[in-house]
Amino acid sequence: LCLSLTILSTHASEVEPEFAGVPKVKHDYQSDVARLRKIVINSLYSHKEIFIRELVSNANDALEKLRLTALTDKEAWNGDPLNITIKALKNEDGKGGRITITDTGIGMSPAELTANLGTLAKSGTSEFLAKAEGQDGKATGNLIGAFGLGFYSSFLVADRVTVASIPPKSAKVPEPAQHVFSSSADDASFEVFPDPRGNTLGRGTEITLYLKEDETEYLDTDKIRDLINKHSSFSSSFPVYLFTQR
Ligand code: ADP
Ligand code: MG
Repeated sequence: LCLSLTILSTHASEVEPEFAGVPKVKHDYQSDVARLRKIVINSLYSHKEIFIRELVSNANDALEKLRLTALTDKEAWNGDPLNITIKALKNEDGKGGRITITDTGIGMSPAELTANLGTLAKSGTSEFLAKAEGQDGKATGNLIGAFGLGFYSSFLVADRVTVASIPPKSAKVPEPAQHVFSSSADDASFEVFPDPRGNTLGRGTEITLYLKEDETEYLDTDKIRDLINKHSSFSSSFPVYLFTQR
């Protein structure tokens, strides 16, 4: 396995999606998730940069899952490109911006968005919580790696995170529809709703991190590139495209 990172430049300044006014279903985080998010956010403040590794490795997992699913369900994948795209998008007013990480992998249905991002289905979580509470950041960072609690690391740098996702067409899901999961860093709840943009992804997942005001250094694509190369202990077997805004 080796990481293939391609830097491309884009002139397109994409408009921020408008989700206001869309009917949303509100869900409370499972109480363990609320505890966990707090631990992740509070203990990893000096290791914020790990978010990029966690999200790229989730994208990689999603692409692997699609490939595996396609072995038994031919409808799930017709051989179209499997890849990961990262974009850093500055706001027009020059203040802040967002990072999107998109994969063409297995995607999530609205039920999966709720279950996978709003609850902790994994065994070992209570063990993790018991160990993590009362530890310093570095040890917790190692624990997080070992237990794989990566998605919540988004909130280290973002005050709001949205996840748009659509699974492939299958016997189980004959007509998939793109949905959005949305959560703020300090909320005890999250929302799931149909994406008003429609099916923009075709298949897969797009994570958008609305960066905190003091974390805009991650809009620098040289920085993102260096972080991806530095954390090469995770290697993606799929191409990673990093778009820089010119
Ligand atoms: P882990 O990767 O160890 O399972 P994470 O917190 O990183 O834990 O992710 C939680 C779950 O959310 C994953 O197991 C997966 O089901 C789902 N998920 C996260 N990112 C993606 C993605 N890009 N595509 C599809 N599913 C995802
Ligand atoms: Mg993960």
